[in-house]
Amino acid sequence: MQASYTYLSDDEWRERTAAFERLARRCALCPRRCGVDRLAGERGFCGAPGELVISSLFPHHGEEPPISGTRGSGTVFFTYCTLKCAFCQNWQLSHKGEGRPYGTEEFAHKLLALQQRGCHNINLVTATHFLPWILPALHRAARQGLRLPLVYNCGGYEREEVVDLLEGIVDVWLPDMKYGDDRPAARYSRALDYVAVNRAAVRRMFRQVGPLRLDGEGIARRGLILRHLVLPGNRAASDQVLSFLADVFDPEDLTVSWMAQYRPLYRAGEYPELAGRLDPAEYAQSCRTLLQAGFAGFLQDAERLDEAFVIDFQSRKEEALTGQPETGPPSSTRRAKGAAHEVDTMGQLPDRARGRSALDRLHDASAAAFLAGSPGSRG
Ligand code: SF4
Repeated sequence: MQASYTYLSDDEWRERTAAFERLARRCALCPRRCGVDRLAGERGFCGAPGELVISSLFPHHGEEPPISGTRGSGTVFFTYCTLKCAFCQNWQLSHKGEGRPYGTEEFAHKLLALQQRGCHNINLVTATHFLPWILPALHRAARQGLRLPLVYNCGGYEREEVVDLLEGIVDVWLPDMKYGDDRPAARYSRALDYVAVNRAAVRRMFRQVGPLRLDGEGIARRGLILRHLVLPGNRAASDQVLSFLADVFDPEDLTVSWMAQYRPLYRAGEYPELAGRLDPAEYAQSCRTLLQAGFAGFLQDAERLDEAFVIDFQSRKEEALTGQPETGPPSSTRRAKGAAHEVDTMGQLPDRARGRSALDRLHDASAAAFLAGSPGSRG
């Protein structure tokens, strides 16, 4: 299956870019609608300037197996964020502005280099506040031969208008559903309308791309994977997230990534209820409820999670983007086996979403990296 954006005409690329520029002129790129003139360099809540700023680009081996595959996901970590969660594991770039400016030509070149490196996709992490600058680079890269599927990896706090403008550009939506209640959304992310905005956006994304579809190697080509990070003490209202999913989605249609990797990072210590780590027993119970509702997808082994998923963005900027593809994590890291029932499902897609043979062809280490808690792209 060919990447959607390869079907866009030059005129359509220009029209979409112009539409995002209009949104940025009195900024309404995200639901905060700050109204500042981003094209003139004014900054709003996200803190982003009037130019593209990127923290890091590299082949990422710690995403869900259909995203990382065997050769890594070509991940681009954009600086600044429209959510700025108090416990953000990427706080160096989302809150502190770690990164440097990239021009259109340079960014397009990097995208092509990720493809040359053998990455399975381009994975844009928290990109919305830079869309007027990202689209021209994608367009240029596409004209110069970029063919990888585009993954849009975001906090799920997106305007429906923006989701619509990305139709035919994004192949795989990878949104968070961070909260099932507006009170924690307000407290930890200052997003008082998160739940309604997020639910509308996720519905829209799903209508656009449908259930997850994989290629013969088990790599995502189209569709949606919904992520949820379980917080200690049900502080993300995970039960309400699940109620919503059960109400709206046929579990056969939706692939869920139910995450246990919470750590009290950045300003989490200021919130006593978030100062500790997630109890594995609480996570296991949450997973049981998810499975009992009929959902499947990816779980994490809360007992085995270490700190490896926390990326130091000051030291990890870019890896050499040419030459031999990296191999995955060391082969000593294997898929979790022999644990409790819910742990047995970790890292595995339901059979309905891909042939068993496709999963079998996935490099074990890719799944193991996720199981071991290495995913670092989420905000
Ligand atoms: S993208 Fe940034 S400036 Fe624009 S509305 Fe959102 S937070 Fe405000």
